[in-house]
Amino acid sequence: MANRPALDNFLQVSGSEARKAESELDTDVRFVKGVGEKLASILARLGIFTVRDLLTHYPLRYEDRTHFTPVARLQDSQRATLRLRVTDLEHRTAGRRQLPITRVAAEDDTGTLVLVWFNQPWIKERFQRLRGRTIIVFGQAKYGRLGFEMNTPSWELEDAEDSGDPWSHGKYVPVYALTDGINQSRMRRIILNCLDKYAVLLQEALPYPILEKYDLLDIENAIRSIHWSESDQENASARRRLVFEELFLMQVALAQLKYRNQAALQGISFQIPNGLLDEVEAHLPFSLTGAQKRVICEIWDDMRSPHPMNRLLQGDVGSGKTVVALAAALLASRCGWQTAIMAPTEVLAEQHYLSIIRLAEPLGLRSGLLSGGVKAKQRRLVNEGMQSGSLDVVVGTHALVQESVDFHKLGLVIIDEQHKFGVRQRSALRDKGSNPDVLVMTATPIPRTLTLTRFGDLDVSRLDEMPPGRKPVITHCRDLTRRYKVYQGVRTIIERGGQAYVVCPLVEESGRLEAKAATALAEDLAANVFPDLSVGLLHGQMSSEEKQAAIAAFRDGKYHILVCTTVVEVGVDIPNANVIVIENAERFGLAQLHQLRGRVGRSGNQAYCILLTDTANEETMERLLVLESTNDGFRVADEDMRLRGPGDFFGARQSGLTSLKIADPLKDVELLEQARDAAIRLIAKDPGLNDPKYGFLRKEVERLASTDELETSA
Ligand code: ADP
Ligand code: MG
Repeated sequence: MANRPALDNFLQVSGSEARKAESELDTDVRFVKGVGEKLASILARLGIFTVRDLLTHYPLRYEDRTHFTPVARLQDSQRATLRLRVTDLEHRTAGRRQLPITRVAAEDDTGTLVLVWFNQPWIKERFQRLRGRTIIVFGQAKYGRLGFEMNTPSWELEDAEDSGDPWSHGKYVPVYALTDGINQSRMRRIILNCLDKYAVLLQEALPYPILEKYDLLDIENAIRSIHWSESDQENASARRRLVFEELFLMQVALAQLKYRNQAALQGISFQIPNGLLDEVEAHLPFSLTGAQKRVICEIWDDMRSPHPMNRLLQGDVGSGKTVVALAAALLASRCGWQTAIMAPTEVLAEQHYLSIIRLAEPLGLRSGLLSGGVKAKQRRLVNEGMQSGSLDVVVGTHALVQESVDFHKLGLVIIDEQHKFGVRQRSALRDKGSNPDVLVMTATPIPRTLTLTRFGDLDVSRLDEMPPGRKPVITHCRDLTRRYKVYQGVRTIIERGGQAYVVCPLVEESGRLEAKAATALAEDLAANVFPDLSVGLLHGQMSSEEKQAAIAAFRDGKYHILVCTTVVEVGVDIPNANVIVIENAERFGLAQLHQLRGRVGRSGNQAYCILLTDTANEETMERLLVLESTNDGFRVADEDMRLRGPGDFFGARQSGLTSLKIADPLKDVELLEQARDAAIRLIAKDPGLNDPKYGFLRKEVERLASTDELETSA
């Protein structure tokens, strides 16, 4: 690939020279040729303060000026660059608010295109002087009533003298993010000046063998070509190099973190007795799925290692995580260690306990429950059992287990995050044992990209196979106008002995409004749709006794229908309920809809999920249809992330990916995996990056870690 001489030069630069050069990149941007005080304050609004910031102000996109599209060849919605003569101009006001509209007619030899600006009166002034001149226009063409139009295109005069833009001819031209007070050609010019003077000072953070192995451009060439390249290919290799570096730095930081939490620590090395897996199976009422066996072995292997385990177990609701957790607890107990299992709420702890003892007793595990509902005397007994070592497993809420239990020998902590997956406050229990192994379970399928980034310091096991005999939930998207037809179907299912959830539309702003909406929906259904059936209500504003009572009544069959808000997402487990109707499904995220759908299909009976929507938006519909097409939570999660982006998946701040300037972890998965691979191998060799040849890399990683963007899950 392209030239690497800069790298060889760099290798000969002495340490102190290199440091000096590097620090020049921190020069205030106002000293860049063509910038000055005033422009510097404008650039500050774009987060550009130093030379380095300017060099890494990567283009948003490029205008390919090596090819101009003729008007006659435009297609609807196409983004294109055209070379046009300005022929005519019309300016008027329109609408109730009298917004000024400027329409400029411009043509090439094949046809006429109308350029439209709203509310930008200065455009008129400008174009009045440009009749007959040639302009370069870039934007999205829309086919309208009067032929092709382009709304607020970016444009500039063709001749360079006028614009002063060195790149306006026949090139692959960068388009930058701007702010008031600076235009494209000015930005291009100062970045070019900056490249001229400072690009040679850029230092290579990537170790040479990695550049070789992954065939990456050196940093100087990459930065030059990302701004200014002659071709698609040149631009692509520059981008590839910069993306790789960005992901690599992040992965090195994660690998170091993982090293500190794991390889650097002395944990428990559990010895696996021969035939333990057969023994587990022998005591279960069913045989393990392939996925369960695989995951149990992954966990045991990890437990056997002398370092503490830090593992995330993912599996859809019903995928059989409990047995896996118990297999881990069994190994611990065989080696003389105790296990703490923690759930986020009391209700979940209790439910969990019930399903645990059913399987734990036959395996010979002695377990106890600690929750608010347990009487003081019983609680004392559990505590004594944990203290003396006569109990193997304690189940409770995070708070209870953390605060009130003294363990005899705590060796394994299992955290059930259910559908919420917070990554904080995990370390508290570590202090109770001697670096116990930690297994976190979640029913939220996390997209692969995120397990490699945000949760990149954890090892991940996936239960991607359902126990046999489970019928997938049949999912239909239906237009809201067919609501009553849908409810007739619900009636039929109830008449056959089933029960139904109806989830009311999500109101994000306020739980109170949401409760009101749910109450109104329940009243409407009871009065107008199901007057002969009984309708219950469950929402977040009810007290926990009221909630429990509503759930119990539904479980006992006193209600045919339970109208609820998303509170039902968490841990409500009623096998007889086999249909769920979700109103205004478009307001929910896909992962959330998938969780809601998981409320049904918990018995052998066929279950249904109906997504009611009145959306006219194609993308929204595409999202909902994902659920029709699959019951696999991992596929739902990946699609959700693909369609909405990582920010929306966990909330922008939380994705931990907001610091990325150029990489798109969704599109760059392959590079992400390569970068991860390279980072892990490097850190295994030199965890502290202490070899002087990694000096600059270490600095870059520290810079990244100090931005606090890399929230860690320790
Ligand atoms: P999760 O916690 O992942 O939602 P559970 O562990 O509660 O799922 O398992 C759901 C149900 O499936 C339980 O009733 C459990 O006993 C049963 N189950 C688990 N594994 C198997 C299996 N391999 N074959 C048949 N049933 C299973
Ligand atoms: Mg271990």
